[in-house]
Order: sequence, then C-alpha cells, then structure tokens
Amino acid sequence: MAGTRSTLRTVGPGRKPAALLLAGALSLILADALGAQGFRTRMRFQMGSLTEITVPDGQYSAQSVSRAFDVVDRLDRLLSTYKADSEVSRLAALGKLRVSPETMEIAEASLRLARLTGGAFNPMLGPVIALWRQAEELGRLPSPEALEAARTLADFERVELDRAAGTIAFPVRGMGLNFGAIGKGFAVDKAAASLQRDGIRMALVTSGTSSHRLIGRPRDGACWELGIRHPGDAERAVTVLRLGPGGLATSAQSGRPREIGGRIYGHIVDPRTGRPAEPRSPVWSASVPAPTATDADALATALIVMEAADGMALVESLPRVEALLVRRNPDGSPRLVWSSGLTQQGTLDGLPLIVPVTEIGCMDGGASSGPAAAAGEQPLRAQPETQTGRPPPPALNRW
Ligand code: ADP
Ligand code: MG
Repeated sequence: MAGTRSTLRTVGPGRKPAALLLAGALSLILADALGAQGFRTRMRFQMGSLTEITVPDGQYSAQSVSRAFDVVDRLDRLLSTYKADSEVSRLAALGKLRVSPETMEIAEASLRLARLTGGAFNPMLGPVIALWRQAEELGRLPSPEALEAARTLADFERVELDRAAGTIAFPVRGMGLNFGAIGKGFAVDKAAASLQRDGIRMALVTSGTSSHRLIGRPRDGACWELGIRHPGDAERAVTVLRLGPGGLATSAQSGRPREIGGRIYGHIVDPRTGRPAEPRSPVWSASVPAPTATDADALATALIVMEAADGMALVESLPRVEALLVRRNPDGSPRLVWSSGLTQQGTLDGLPLIVPVTEIGCMDGGASSGPAAAAGEQPLRAQPETQTGRPPPPALNRW
C-alpha cells in the first residue's frame, strides 16, 4: 500500500553504494539514519513536485501527515504562478492585493534574502520567468527588447509591503512575484511546523527531491545522511552530507532543463542579464544547510548565479549557514568546495563524507541489523498520493 513501507531507502549492513539510491534526485535522504525502527513515507504531488513526508511508525498519525500535506496544498493555491486565481497571480494582475499571512511572510523572507544576496536571488523575476516559459512553449527565444523590458520590472526594492494593512503593491504595471526558488523550502518548513505542532518529534519533509526539512535526529547523537548527485551521472552520488536537524536545499542549473530552438537552457535566471545562468556554469550544484529550508532554498539558487568566491564569502558571513559546491573542472570531472563550517570526516562507500564541524563525531543513524534494515535494501518508490490520481509528469523537477 502506498506510503506505508516500513523503511525508506535504508542502506543496512553491507550497504549498497549510495550511488544506487540517487537516480532522479538533486539531493536525497539516504536514510541509513532510519535504522531498525519502522518508518512510513507518504507522498503527494504538490507545487509541481512530489512532497514526501517520512515519520517513524511510533509517531505516525495519518491525520497529522494529511494536515501537513494540506498546509502545502494551501501554499500551492496561494503562491503558484501556474494558477490564475492564486494570490500571486491576482496580485500581478491587479497591482495591489490584500494577501494572507503566509503570502506576506514569504514575501518578507524573499525581500530579506534578495537584499542579502545582492539580488542574485530575486523574487521579482516574475515577468522574466514568464517570458522564458513562453519561449519554451513557442520554441523561440524572447526578443532582446522584451527581455530588457521584463528585466527592468524585476526591481525588488520597489515592491511595497504593508504589513499592518496586509497588502502588497507594485508601483508599475507588469511587475510580478515568483517564489519558484524559495516556495518549496518555505512549504517544507511549514509542513514540518505542522507535524511538530501535532507532537511529532522526528520526521523528514522533502519537496522536489531538492528542498528538505529535517526534524529531530534519527536517534541520540545520530545524523541524517543525504547524497548529492554527481554532475555527470544520474546514477551516482558525488558526496554524502551528514546533518543534524534543520533545512537543506540543493540547486543546479540543470535541475529543470528547457529546450528552446534546439538548445538547452537552465531554469535559474541571472537577474543581471535576464537570461538563464550559464548552463555550463562552473558551479554545477550548490547545497546549503541552514536553520530553515526557506533560507537554504533561496541561498542555494543565489549560489548558482553568483561567482563562487562571492557566494562563499556570503555564506561565511552568515551564522549557521554552510555551502557545499560541486564545481566542474574543465575536463568535466567534479570538484567539491565547502565552507569553513563543514569538514570531511572520512568516506562513505568511497565518497567524501562531509559534516558540519558542530556535528563532528555524529553517527550515522542506521541500525546495523534487524529485519527493517534488510527490507530497506531497495530504494523506495511508492506511488505518490496525488490529488488527481495521476502520477506526476516525469520531467518536472527531476533529473
Ligand atoms: P528548483 O525549484 O528546481 O529546486 P530553484 O530552487 O533553484 O530550483 O528555483 C528555480 C526556480 O526559481 C525557477 O524555475 C524560477 O521559477 C525561479 N528563479 C529562477 N532564477 C531565479 C533567481 N535568480 N532568483 C529567484 N528566483 C529564480
Ligand atoms: Mg532555490
């Protein structure tokens, strides 16, 4: 039955290489952590992606997990640029709107992160992103004039947030928010908070395989393990991160490739040019552990746009925020670069094992024996619980 397997991607004793468990993901819970106790995972197709919630059997409540999914559904209805009646779409059409508290909260967080990243993460790219979406449909690049016009509308300093009145307003027609680079992080944070309100003390909430919120620890002193995908090989991990509770997001320019006129473009836009950041950018992927997935998500996107040195300097200036960049050498081979709050602690399955310095000595949470560990030898791919009953389109937010 979907979503009620007792283990998730457990790599027990005689582990399979982490590599085998990575197909389709930017970063993925390896979940050795899940140990001998049973876990349940449920999935729902939301925000154009799969949300996955994993809770230990002992704390599992169908109602709580449904409530957490419902939180994400509500955010999807408020924030989607694909839904004409979302608050974000209505705001773009009307130029001013009284919005719900969640929309105000993500807008405020987005402006803070836009300032922090010098605009590398820019939530006002709405009109630019709409042009690229249209270009993909038409199979024709946007004209330089149209791009320039859209780019000048992406001035995040001109958005007017009135917290007291609960309104967001744009001074110029055509301006529009797009929370594509932060919405999944925000959603997993909110879903996690809902689980915690219901008394769940340990859970994993993931959206689109790239935005994660880790609640608690698999067991005392243990860490979660996440594989980061290899740039040249969908079946392999390039490294494993071992983390305590908090947020983690991974961005890569090739995360959602779009073809226009026979060429492949990435989905992350460089706000300085209005064009997709170079698909062969030397920063192939950026993974950011941070206290919240909201911050992690926006920062991971910004690190794809920024020069690697500038991005690292920014990360170094932020408390409890780290970065692991997968850079690409001229010969195509990957090279890992990490911030000073991370360190390598040996290897796992031959891959560099990276941990925050504050977690040195933290164990892999996995049990080394027991039926659950054995049962978990295969990666879990339960059928998603979808609103429509259809499986998600394979290309979306997937490798
Ligand atoms: P994913 O959603 O695949 O995990 P990201 O978090 O990096 O990837 O977000 C990419 C999405 O964010 C794009 O599809 C687009 O909607 C939007 N976006 C693209 N470039 C930027 C940018 N520089 N700043 C803010 N949002 C962006
Ligand atoms: Mg992002």
